[in-house]
Amino acid sequence: MSERIDIYSMNINELTDFFASLGEPKYRAKQVYPHLLHSVPIDELTSLSKSLRERLRETVLDTSVGIERRLVSKIDGTVKYLFRLYDGEFIESVFMRYKHGNTLCISSQVGCRMGCRFCASTIGGRVRDLLPSELIGQISAAERDTGLRVSNIVMMGIGEPLDNFDNVVRFLELVNDPSGLNIGYRHISLSTSGVVPRIRELAELKLPITLSVSLHAATDEARSEIMPINKKWNISELLSACVDYYKSTGRRISFEYTLISGKNDSESDALALASLLRRAFSGTGAPLHINLIRVNEVKESGFRRGSAEAAAAFAAVLEREGCVATVRRRLGADINAACGQLRRGETS
Ligand code: SAH
Repeated sequence: MSERIDIYSMNINELTDFFASLGEPKYRAKQVYPHLLHSVPIDELTSLSKSLRERLRETVLDTSVGIERRLVSKIDGTVKYLFRLYDGEFIESVFMRYKHGNTLCISSQVGCRMGCRFCASTIGGRVRDLLPSELIGQISAAERDTGLRVSNIVMMGIGEPLDNFDNVVRFLELVNDPSGLNIGYRHISLSTSGVVPRIRELAELKLPITLSVSLHAATDEARSEIMPINKKWNISELLSACVDYYKSTGRRISFEYTLISGKNDSESDALALASLLRRAFSGTGAPLHINLIRVNEVKESGFRRGSAEAAAAFAAVLEREGCVATVRRRLGADINAACGQLRRGETS
């Protein structure tokens, strides 16, 4: 059998060529495209003739994501999904309700190769990149399951989005399409561990998404110890790319800082962090935003989660030093498995 084709990842031009190659009329692509952007299965494309649907079933790669498990928080209605992919791999997404709308946290890869020491997603390495259609599929599946619209996306699930650059950029284009899920760029956040050349490449696209950067430490010594990527691109290279990103897009960057008890959560760590960011962004007028996350304990890492009071004290120092600091609220505490742990449970 010849290789199957992922038409759910195509843009309208590619889809037009695809239908032309089947000898179908030009309007076919336009007719089908909005449905593909909502991950509608071939069988449900009932405006197509039976014979064309049959032909598509034989040609098209079915990249739909299936719900393998679903955990619902009794506290706040947060839903954590374990999704099964077409090749039997698993990923996770989390559906959260906020006042400003429903947010889905999606995965970008099966596994991850960045090796951050506190993170469960990277244990076992990277298996493969997700296809654009599988990024879209997580949203369609959550919308179908909850009956609610997803209005915001955060790319903070399993994987390093900028290590899957082309597919992620295509996904952004497709998810933003008004005839599809129609999620505005301003409602999308992308989090990176700091793949510097890709941050620069993303800046050139000038998409008004929010970039989050996982900093987690204020010195190279401390950062290299918990994030191997720092040995490739150090803090000064990373922050210089962030400054250029801000200048080129006008979009402020939000820095992620995972608080690890006794490791990076002292008052002097807070002072060093504030002064590092102030120096890097001086003269740019950029507001300095830091999201504090108390580390989720992953048994392999041995890192300890500090108290809420310690996090609040850390935030207060940052605020005093001219930064905006928020301690991430913990949704779905009763179903919480630190990111990547559901999948690990399934595969190990
Ligand atoms: N690879 C991307 C996005 C995925 S992780 C990145 O590194 O940014 C999303 C955020 O959760 C990152 O800031 C990451 O460092 C953080 N994170 C990962 N494991 C964590 C844990 N056990 N506790 C708290 N935060 C964690």
